[in-house]
Amino acid sequence: MAHRVYNFYPGPATLPLPALEKAQKEFLDYAGTGMSVLEISHRSKEYDKLHHEAMDLVRELLNLPDDYKVMWLQGGASTQFYQVPLNLQVPGKPMEYVNTGGWSTKAIKEAKYFGDVRVIASSEDEGFSYVPQNVEFSDDIAYAHITTNNTLYGTEWHYIPKVPDDVPLVADMSSNIMDKVIDIKKFAVMYAGAQKNLGPAGVTLVIVREDLLDRVPENTPTMQRWSTHANKDSLFNTPPTFAIYICKLALEYIKERGGVPALEKVNREKAKILYDVIDSSDGFYKGHARHDSRSLMNVTFRLASEELELKCVEEGAKRGLIGLKGHRSVGGMRASIYNAMTLEGVKALAEFLKEFQEQNQ
Ligand SMILES: *Cc1c(COP(=O)(O)O)cnc(C)c1O
Repeated sequence: MAHRVYNFYPGPATLPLPALEKAQKEFLDYAGTGMSVLEISHRSKEYDKLHHEAMDLVRELLNLPDDYKVMWLQGGASTQFYQVPLNLQVPGKPMEYVNTGGWSTKAIKEAKYFGDVRVIASSEDEGFSYVPQNVEFSDDIAYAHITTNNTLYGTEWHYIPKVPDDVPLVADMSSNIMDKVIDIKKFAVMYAGAQKNLGPAGVTLVIVREDLLDRVPENTPTMQRWSTHANKDSLFNTPPTFAIYICKLALEYIKERGGVPALEKVNREKAKILYDVIDSSDGFYKGHARHDSRSLMNVTFRLASEELELKCVEEGAKRGLIGLKGHRSVGGMRASIYNAMTLEGVKALAEFLKEFQEQNQ
């Protein structure tokens, strides 16, 4: 058995062990080809099969209606920050955003290159510690944009904002895609860098409702148009084949475990275990996120001093609990407990945090 730790890194992040083991087993000889997935043509029938299986798994697990296109793109979620306004702009119509953290801020900055951007709600006033409630987007806008989970601050949307019927709702779901069952038809565009909740770095899942594909201005370069990739099932040019392959294995694992409803149950249990430790610590651990906005995926908290936080991170690492340091812009500590993090891993962390408190208060 390989030496494995519990990995709480925010991304790239832990992957399901059975998926890694399967990749290891078929690494040198994929499906009897005598070649690694890394070596086979993206036009081969073996690759074509796994490529489409990965797309079908996304459809099945998200319960996607037929009029949505699934794409595997490159450039990370950060590239979608400009591809969204580029592909969805409507001359004369503003784009509306909610600013709930560092990633939303970056998305807003990029949209401004394309036209008038309105930030209709923001939680910047309180250190991005919450998700604004009762958000309603305006009529007559090009699109509405939210970041469904705020990786750095540990907050998550637990409701879908009100959006007029003819306005597409766009969501950056990089750090919480598939973490819980959602009403998928409320979203017109969803995107997610794979390296948090889906698979490895190097591929971005982009899902777009078909009717939006022809909005793109005519002078847009081919590779920047979603329609180019949607119409060719992401095989217009060479896709990141190995990353898609690992996503497929990870998605298969989710399916075997009972799909998103089963994941949601475990995710809620995992998050509750850690938030309970924080809430029953008499202030030794101070959660960053407001209770109504707490993330199921990134649990952020602080201790009394930076020295104590550093000590906690270091002692955790000695126990095989890795990656607990908070993001540099927020400080403190963060446990990223994405879909692939096991209940056992979270229980081990909770035990450690309780012991650490006993020894250090
Ligand atoms: C990590 C992250 C990004 C950036 O993803 P890249 O793939 O590195 O570009 C964007 N949005 C959210 C919510 C993230 O967590």
